[in-house]
Amino acid sequence: MSATSRNVAEAALEESFERLELGDDIAKLLVSPYREVSIELPIEREDGTISVFRGFRVQHSRARGPFKGGLRYHPTVDLEDVRLLASLMTWKTALVFLPFGGAKGGIDCNPRELRTLELERLTKLFVDRLGPLIGPDVDIPAPDVGTSGREMAWIVERYAQQSGEHPGVVTGKPVSLGGSPGRIEATGRSVALTTRWVLDELFDGVEGARVAIQGFGNVGRHAARLLDGMGARIVAISTVEGAVHAPDGLDVPELFAAYESSELPATPAAASSRGEEIERDSLLGVDCDVLIPAALQDSIRTDNVESVAAKLIVEGANAPITYDADRALTERGVVVLPDIFANSGGVTVSYFEWVQNQSRYQWDLDRVQRELEARLDRAWKALLERKQAIDGTFRAAAFDVSVQRVEQALRQRGF
Ligand code: NAD
Repeated sequence: MSATSRNVAEAALEESFERLELGDDIAKLLVSPYREVSIELPIEREDGTISVFRGFRVQHSRARGPFKGGLRYHPTVDLEDVRLLASLMTWKTALVFLPFGGAKGGIDCNPRELRTLELERLTKLFVDRLGPLIGPDVDIPAPDVGTSGREMAWIVERYAQQSGEHPGVVTGKPVSLGGSPGRIEATGRSVALTTRWVLDELFDGVEGARVAIQGFGNVGRHAARLLDGMGARIVAISTVEGAVHAPDGLDVPELFAAYESSELPATPAAASSRGEEIERDSLLGVDCDVLIPAALQDSIRTDNVESVAAKLIVEGANAPITYDADRALTERGVVVLPDIFANSGGVTVSYFEWVQNQSRYQWDLDRVQRELEARLDRAWKALLERKQAIDGTFRAAAFDVSVQRVEQALRQRGF
């Protein structure tokens, strides 16, 4: 990750501290991570050789409750990366008013190059070495890029061996092991709902709005399905393999089914009966009303921001826009709905999962969806109110609301 993208959140925080007239001392405390660990993880491979990986966990803030955040398996994972993502979790949980702090973790491995048994060994070793640093009332990991319910189930098992059965030690588990109905689609659902709300508030509504989506994984795929159902027209999607563009709209159920199957299509165009194949990164410049980056950090940068045609960008991914690009978009009047609001559905349903685990009771999907929408709606009202009060961007308003809540909790508890 380049140094510039880190500054989106950092700059937004600095501006919030100024607007809220916070002193340097409290500002410093709000920014600095509570705890950072970096752990050596050697595992014996199936061919008898030894590979040494590094695992990280950054626990950014526990002012509002136990640490909460995903676990990423990717070769580029490093402490800097994890630190930024941990901080974003603090502001995200505060914005949707969850009783959690913020954390993030990861291992610098490429899960595609490891056998299942090797991954299981690595995950369980990480749990052993984290020891008491995780737990249902301490720090609750969840899936992120490169991990899924499978890794969470391994963590549940290793944690149970050490400390007894506590399914709430992680969220994003398989439903059969105490996971919540609706968790898998939750992030895409919040992206779709919040897109509809901004379109209703500031533009011409969701009906017929032309949407381009970068990334057709968990977040992009469900956002596409739900927005399509709301009457939007999904005109382009991309994956790491390529992109497809259909100005009259793609057949979303067809693409969704293709990417839900066990054998992934070679390219989006190969899976689509409509539209034309386009160069992968030209998706950003496709003529559309809404652009949803739902793939990677730093996708929209100074070298491609000029090409962005959308009037609205909804951040499905975490930190997809670099600092300079974000400023350029604001100057051009492009509305950006920030990650800490748009993709907060995942951690919100993770919270519901944790609540269900505490009472050993499972909600039905209807309840999960109702409570998710109600919580997001509450955050949306607070966001709109603050945006109007400061006459600023959604990002500025979101950080103001979050910072005020974390600062209040810090002061109430003492240090
Ligand atoms: P995923 O691994 O399921 O999907 C990622 C998608 O991005 C894949 O379709 C992949 O092909 C595509 N992609 C990768 N590189 C690309 C490129 N250069 N151009 C176009 N497409 C590319 O991941 P996900 O769970 O959907 O997460 C996506 C983003 O959303 C990540 O930034 C993640 O941190 C963030 N996020 C996810 C959740 C969640 O609950 N899954 C919650 C909050 C935030």
